Amino acid sequence: MSRLAGALLAATVLAAHAASQDAAKLHGKRPGTLEIRNAMVVRGDGAPPFGPTSVYVHDGRIVAALDGDAEAVIDGTGHWLLPGLVATHAHLHEAQAGIPIPMEYQGAIWLASGITTIRDLGSAQARSLRVRSRADKGEFPSPRILLYHQLGAVNTPAEAVARVRAIASAGGDGIKLWSNVNYPPEVLRAALNESNQIPLRTTAHIGVGECNALDYADAGVDCIEHWYGIPDAALRGVQDFPARFSYSNEVDRFREAGNLWRQTDPDKLEAVLQHLVDRGVAWSPTLAVYEASRDVMRAQNQPCFREWLHPALEAFFSPSLDSHGSYFIGWTSADEAAWRENYRIWMGALRRFAELGGTITTGEDAGYIYLLYGFGLVRELELHLEAGFHPLEVIRHATYDGAKVLGMSDTFGRVLPGLCADLILVRGNPLENLKRLYPTGCDEYVDGKASPTGAVTWAIRGGRIWHGPTLATTVKDIVRQAREKTASGR
Ligand SMILES: [Zn+2]
Repeated sequence: MSRLAGALLAATVLAAHAASQDAAKLHGKRPGTLEIRNAMVVRGDGAPPFGPTSVYVHDGRIVAALDGDAEAVIDGTGHWLLPGLVATHAHLHEAQAGIPIPMEYQGAIWLASGITTIRDLGSAQARSLRVRSRADKGEFPSPRILLYHQLGAVNTPAEAVARVRAIASAGGDGIKLWSNVNYPPEVLRAALNESNQIPLRTTAHIGVGECNALDYADAGVDCIEHWYGIPDAALRGVQDFPARFSYSNEVDRFREAGNLWRQTDPDKLEAVLQHLVDRGVAWSPTLAVYEASRDVMRAQNQPCFREWLHPALEAFFSPSLDSHGSYFIGWTSADEAAWRENYRIWMGALRRFAELGGTITTGEDAGYIYLLYGFGLVRELELHLEAGFHPLEVIRHATYDGAKVLGMSDTFGRVLPGLCADLILVRGNPLENLKRLYPTGCDEYVDGKASPTGAVTWAIRGGRIWHGPTLATTVKDIVRQAREKTASGR
């Protein structure tokens, strides 16, 4: 080794040592002032990146400058700074398949994937309120949690109003309209009317029935999850269900869902999309959670499963009619081909919705259908790219647009003085390759060799700093211990 190479190596080792000391010092801390130095900045509103530059934080908020030296400094060299990602469709899970899932697992994996806000759509109310309060105190690594409790099974307008009021007084941030039964129009209108008066924000997973996306839009819903209700409103009649179909059988349900988009009338679909835009209804499509339907072997063999998949999810994902979304029994090549076509039309509708002025967000709905928390949201971003959006638009969907739909764009979602310091630092440029957002990182081609790149080095929520590699270790340790416990039958 030349003397120069030796000196360079020593300097690198020293730098790495200093970095790990910083990590230990800063992980989980909320310094009064912070400077993030020498990073490229993607603001989140679709504007091109700028920098390298410094971004300053004072008391949890982004500021244009600091009075003196910062209490803590993060070196952003070689990093891209983005607003923290917003997952508009997520679930807090206490357990799956009867195996408990610690909150630290979900929280750490979300932050390690760059997510600083999740919208929980209808987990157990009492527990989720406790989890949110612990998360807000920084007691465990966690994104900001917004709780949209389920309207659930209400049968009359009076029951709907009472339930909405109960959710508001319990401290819910919003309402998810969903139940096993599709709401009749008068119940739907009563629920949305009451929510809008309080006001509580709303989103809907629309069941197949009398009301479709147009009814929800007219009644004043803020957002539609997945796609249900949208193609339904653009059919020439009812969906062409085979005579043997049962809505209670998930194999039937997801198989026929794969035939839905092609049954739409293009002119009607255009009118439906325009109507949603006119009424200001946003769309949280959750493309990633259905991907197993178009390629089940891909879904079942994701490399991140080796070290990151909790045994509770592993058990829950195995094909079974008892676990929601584990419908891969007798799944055929023809089912996958149908779903690929379904995606093509669905993605086209998303593009058209955006062209008409509609707001699109990114949700993951992970914990179901082979989708792992965190990784699921990054995959969602990749699918928005596949749908034809520019990487800057994809990042905007996942940051500013998500914040807008939550009614919180004056709180977070952009790198802008005055907003909360919900920020992530990614090693390398995620606009060049969204895979850089995966907690596992990825590789790039440097001088004829594969070189590691990517992963979130720092995730900052409201000024509280979390170190990506430390979060990764936390998650992998939890998984290893849970696997040992499951294997020994304890
Ligand atoms: Zn969901």
